[in-house]
Amino acid sequence: MIVFEQVSKRYPGGHEALSEVSFELRHGELVVLSGHSGAGKSTLLKMIPVLERPSAGRVLINNQDVSHLQRSAIPYLRRSLGLMLQDNRLLYDRNVFDNVVLPLVIAGMSPKDAARRVHAALERVGLGGRDQEMPIGLSGGEQQRVAIARAIVKRPSILIADEPTAHLDAAYAHEIAELFQSFKSVGVTVIVCTHDPALFAETRPRRLVLRQGRLIEGAE
Ligand code: ADP
Ligand code: ADP
Repeated sequence: MIVFEQVSKRYPGGHEALSEVSFELRHGELVVLSGHSGAGKSTLLKMIPVLERPSAGRVLINNQDVSHLQRSAIPYLRRSLGLMLQDNRLLYDRNVFDNVVLPLVIAGMSPKDAARRVHAALERVGLGGRDQEMPIGLSGGEQQRVAIARAIVKRPSILIADEPTAHLDAAYAHEIAELFQSFKSVGVTVIVCTHDPALFAETRPRRLVLRQGRLIEGAE
């Protein structure tokens, strides 16, 4: 379902952030991507929604080569992905419901269907009935759950999360890790990038480890 074929990335003026990275992920797999800071984790994740393109190699999603996707086709691809990237902050001037419904509004879903989906997503992350609250009144772990609900509300088949447990204390981080592991049971392919792979070890996920742009563990 997600295939990287000899993917390399060189940023303008920089050294190689990814070097000949190859791996294949199957439907419903949970993958934990780790590596030290600067190893290329964010660069790798960004290739999936085409926020970056490879300098060489190919990225295939459901047999479609997205590395050469036309600009006009990118929004359609992104709608099928659940994204929790570093710069996806919650909107603090809107309540929980309005934050989570946003991707559905953008997709043009009817308000009635959208509301039903939002409530299902909030139930899924353990925030049922909290939809009228403001994010600022929630704990860090709860805010992170709102971000997860927003990422899954479209029911994506692929969920990508960059450091979803960053800035959380151990108990909250563990809860969030458990939540990600639970998506496996509904057939969602999950790719989580983390400094702390031990948090996700319970379900023995597939591990990918990057070092200086090279995949040193997890290629097949
Ligand atoms: P990680 O997520 O593992 O910390 P990144 O993918 O962010 O690693 O970065 C990998 C390398 O690419 C680093 O050397 C980083 O400085 C460089 N890099 C990342 N983004 C850019 C960019 N937009 N322009 C130039 N260099 C970049
Ligand atoms: P229905 O389509 O009958 O309304 P729900 O939307 O209530 O079903 O979905 C059942 C549960 O499974 C919900 O809690 C939903 O969040 C969860 N679920 C289903 N598909 C996904 C998905 N792709 N990602 C995350 N959770 C999902």
